[in-house]
This record gives sequence, C-alpha cells and structure tokens, in this order.
Amino acid sequence: MNNIKEISIVIPAYNESENLPFLCAEIKQVLNDITDNYEIIIVNDGSSDKTQEAIEKLFSNDNRHIIGINFRSNLGKATALKAGFTEARGKIIFTMDADLQDDPKEIPNFLTKIEKDYDLVSGWKKDRKDSFIKNTSSKFFNFITSRLSRVKLHDFNCGFKAYKSEVAKNLDLYGQLHRYIPVMARNQGYKIGEIPVHHRKRKFGKSKYGPIRFINGFLDLLTVMMLTKYFKRPAHFFGGIGSVALSIGAIIGLYITFLRLSTGSIQGRLPLFIAGILLIMVGVQLISLGLIGEMFVKISGKEGNYKKNINKYIKKHDK
Ligand code: UDP
Ligand code: MG
Repeated sequence: MNNIKEISIVIPAYNESENLPFLCAEIKQVLNDITDNYEIIIVNDGSSDKTQEAIEKLFSNDNRHIIGINFRSNLGKATALKAGFTEARGKIIFTMDADLQDDPKEIPNFLTKIEKDYDLVSGWKKDRKDSFIKNTSSKFFNFITSRLSRVKLHDFNCGFKAYKSEVAKNLDLYGQLHRYIPVMARNQGYKIGEIPVHHRKRKFGKSKYGPIRFINGFLDLLTVMMLTKYFKRPAHFFGGIGSVALSIGAIIGLYITFLRLSTGSIQGRLPLFIAGILLIMVGVQLISLGLIGEMFVKISGKEGNYKKNINKYIKKHDK
C-alpha cells in the first residue's frame, strides 16, 4: 500500500467545485509526459458548495491517481496542506491552488529547478492577475517579510510550490502559517529557490482572502520569527530587551536620586522620573516573561528536538 510515488500534488480546496475538474484534467495532461507514477491529493477544507461531489466524481473516473480528504469544517489552508503532506507518498510534493490561477504547465520548470539541488522551489507570480489593491498590498507584505526574515524571495505566499518530500513533512503548519513556509523551511536549514510562474485570472468562484489578511499576516510573521528563531531561547529574546529597559531605568533612577541629594529637589524632572520607573517595571516584566518562556520550552521538551535537523549520520555500523 505504502508505495512511493514520483510526484504528489496537494490541492487545498474551499468552495472550488467548478474549478477542480478543469484543474485535474490540465495536471494530468502535463504529468502524462513525465510519469504515470503520481497522485493528486485534493483536500476539501469544509466547503459548503459541491466540492466534495466533484472530488468523488474525479475519484470514480480515476481512482488510481486521485485521493480525496474531506474536512467536516473549514480549518484553513495551512491545515489542509498539512493533511495533504501527511498523506503524500511522492518523492517530490507539489502544492497548487485549486482555483486554476496556477498553470500546471509550469510543473516541468519546477522539476528542473529542484534538480539543481534545491529543497523547496517557490513560485513567483511575477505578472499577478488579481485586483490592484491585492497586488499592491501583497508587494508590501513580501517586501517586509523578506527584510525581516532575510529570505530573498519576491513572493512568499504563492500557492504553487515544489518540495522534496522531507521538507514538506517536516513543516509544522497551522492557522495562517502557510504564508511563511519558505521562512520556516529556511530556518530549518533547507535551500530555497524561486521561479517566475504564469498566473491566470480566477474564472469560477471567489477569492477567500481580502487585503485585510495582511494585517493579521504581520502578527503571524512575528509568531514565525518567535517560533523558529527564538523558540529555544525566550530568555535571550525577552531578557535582552528587558535588560536594556531595566538598565536605562536604573540610570535615570540614579540620576534623579543624585539630583535630589545634591540640590534638595528633583529640579522639575518629574516626567523623566516617571519614565525611569516605567522602564524599570517593564524591564522586570520582560525578564520574568523570558524566564517563564524558558520553563515552557523545558516542559515541552523542544529544546532537545534536534532530530528533524539531522540529514546524515557518519558512523561505523555494528555487526
Ligand atoms: N483555501 C482553503 N481553505 C480556506 C481558504 C482557501 O483550502 O479556508 C484554498 C482555496 O480553495 C484555494 C487556495 O486556498 O485553492 C487559495 O485561495 P484563494 O484563491 O482564495 O486565495 P488568493 O489566490 O486570492 O490569494
Ligand atoms: Mg487564488
């Protein structure tokens, strides 16, 4: 049963009943020239339209290649991807949006790039066919994400990506974190590449995300930075900022004390005095927060969770 495939294609679908039959037909046409050893995994993310019926129909026409996973309720794209990754048996795992905006003809280009020894190749909707507001806010989002994470990509949130199996299976996805997959993968030490992809207009169905998503998006970026970079050392992160605040507060406190003792009054420095007290309080809070975080890391056992990061053992085998 658990036979390895050359290629798995994971498609999250939320109310995409009209698009799926076209998409599968297009994918099959492209894959026919590459291999017959593939699977298309469609994850129905709690759709309220006829998406499930569409998947069942596709399955009854081709049960060798189609796999359907059905969520009873809408859990979000990241969770749908995770379910697909868990099921996938391909050496190379693709993700594609279900809305026909990604063009399956790009699949061979992804394969060529990943063969050049990349672990993850991300699509770049260079000429994006969405609304002006969406395109502009997305550019802004990508600029900030690239700056903060130091991952040099133009388009983090492109649904069209190719992964070496291990990379996809190691991703800890939930909520809206699919937008930061390249950041998460890079922080695990994987090599990330990018290729421009042909992007098409949505014909059927509606976009599930408005520009508002980018506001929540920045909170998610903070989460990713915290979880990947500072997760193992919260005392350094919070403690670092806390120590700076505490030191400045202490210096101000000493200065005010000096003024009071030498001149008999604080010389109208009340605002500075208050700022000093505030800094000391915030500093102590942050340092304590870091120490509490440190306890969580200890309890969760994550500090010793190095296994996902090992890619090779050099070791003499016992007889
Ligand atoms: N999607 C999903 N669950 C959701 C929202 C979206 O599985 O809760 C899927 C959707 O069906 C599509 C992909 O995620 O295949 C991208 O969604 P959409 O096209 O609406 O986003 P956009 O291209 O507008 O950024
Ligand atoms: Mg779309």
